[in-house]
Amino acid sequence: MKNKIKASLCVIICMLITFCLCACNAEFKLNSGGTESVTDGQTLSVHYLDVGQGDSIFIELPQNKTMLIDAATAEYGEGIAEYIYEQGYEKIDYLIATHPHADHIGGMKAVVEKFEIDKIYMPKASTTTKTYKNLLQAIKDNGLKINTAKAGITIAQSTNLKIDILAPNSDSYDELNNYSAVIKITYGDRAFLFMGDAEKLSEQEITADVKADVLKAGHHGSSSSTSEEFLARVNPTAVIISCGKDNSYGHPHKETLEALEKAGIEIYRTDTMGTIIASTDGESLEITDNNPAANH
Ligand SMILES: [Zn+2]
Repeated sequence: MKNKIKASLCVIICMLITFCLCACNAEFKLNSGGTESVTDGQTLSVHYLDVGQGDSIFIELPQNKTMLIDAATAEYGEGIAEYIYEQGYEKIDYLIATHPHADHIGGMKAVVEKFEIDKIYMPKASTTTKTYKNLLQAIKDNGLKINTAKAGITIAQSTNLKIDILAPNSDSYDELNNYSAVIKITYGDRAFLFMGDAEKLSEQEITADVKADVLKAGHHGSSSSTSEEFLARVNPTAVIISCGKDNSYGHPHKETLEALEKAGIEIYRTDTMGTIIASTDGESLEITDNNPAANH
């Protein structure tokens, strides 16, 4: 009997240790889920990384080019870099800092220091935070120059691919979120829209064609963004919400989820599904997540 209790205790302790190790691992390392890079030079893959309460989206473009939109908070910088290395890349062709909030640029200093970077785009918005100043210093130290992100700029264009900046459309805003660089990637018949933390004011200002198959909801699914009018213009089949489990902001907000459900749009959330990958050859579109058991 005693031995049985001892054995049971042993099993429980082992399980606890395994659980703790897994929990720590999840915090510092982005699980790529054993997903091999699917890019064969023709496929475009968008990785909406599970980075807690923040945004970081890594994009494998055709012809082995890459793009990174935001780099979450500082503690995720190393994990994001590791994830990109695991996909087989050492260069980022286009680096976008949508706006200078810590949950978007915190990990970017690490990225700037570790990768060869071709072009950086940031909106003309500034803050006085140490995170922002450190990033600017790292950009300078690495001999890079910042290109201004604003509506009307085309980042890349080839036969099948077009990458455009649709916002910001004004020179100044009261709310830093509205400076967010909004990016649209069109590949063949498919399009992806990335909102950063743009709110309803910025959504209203966009006059360009916003129609897209996959929409990264603005501001982590907050009710400040994704108005019903804008959603109707984008008319997506799937919406990705990047937010942290049990975050203090209550993201995604009930209003946003209800509007998406009402419109019959598939919802993918990094807080419940982990990293989400959308891939297209320009015709078919496939979306996978790291948690097939999750409801969506
Ligand atoms: Zn944010």
